[in-house]
Amino acid sequence: MATAWLRFYEELNDFLPPRRRKRDIAYPLTRRASVKDVIESLGVPHTEVDLILVDGRSVGFDHIVGDGQRISVYPVFESLDISPVQRLRPKPLREPRFVCDANLGRLARYLRLLGFDTLYRNDFRDREVAELSARQRRILLTRDRRLLRRRILTHAYFVRAEDPREQAREVVRRFDLAARARPFTRCARCNGLLEDVDKEQILDRLEPKTRRYYDRFRRCRDCARLYWQGSHHDRAAALVRHLLSESREPPAAGP
Ligand SMILES: [Zn+2]
Repeated sequence: MATAWLRFYEELNDFLPPRRRKRDIAYPLTRRASVKDVIESLGVPHTEVDLILVDGRSVGFDHIVGDGQRISVYPVFESLDISPVQRLRPKPLREPRFVCDANLGRLARYLRLLGFDTLYRNDFRDREVAELSARQRRILLTRDRRLLRRRILTHAYFVRAEDPREQAREVVRRFDLAARARPFTRCARCNGLLEDVDKEQILDRLEPKTRRYYDRFRRCRDCARLYWQGSHHDRAAALVRHLLSESREPPAAGP
């Protein structure tokens, strides 16, 4: 018999019986049916659905389901995750860049620590964040579902974790960033890139001990903040390893 395969994502699974959740569902095609009819016959209200991919391509509710088709169904908010968006593109985003909403300041700092271009201000307004995301093709990171509803958005991700470190780990995993991380290349305070600077040029800015014990310095191109491998560096390096690791064990000496 003709069969289509459906899979529902994220909270759409709440509408399914446990045996059908988060797995492929074989759907026998006994009659000509639109994908909307098929979805609703499985118990999922169409108003909860925002994106349907058939064999990787986005379709409307009136799509007639055919034999052997693989149908992925995403809910209203989760559809803004990068994964379905990427599938619609010939190439994934090569250089993921981010903008964090006004409530995710620590996440922004952690992403910068890992070297990822991340805009953030604590006085960001929702509209501004959404426009930055759309205009600069940055992935919006937020825990505010209302913000995700803005039509202008194409790349956005709802961050599940509440703890900032777990948020950073979640983003790293979700966007497969571990191999692209360039720790200690970007200013955690302002997102500017760091560049090497001669010690002689900055002597007047150094504390006596720093001047005595350290010789290599980097300076933020934008805000001129100085960075060097001081006592804080080991903790920061441990934090970086933690953020990039698969393991859930926290670093031995976190800041
Ligand atoms: Zn800076």
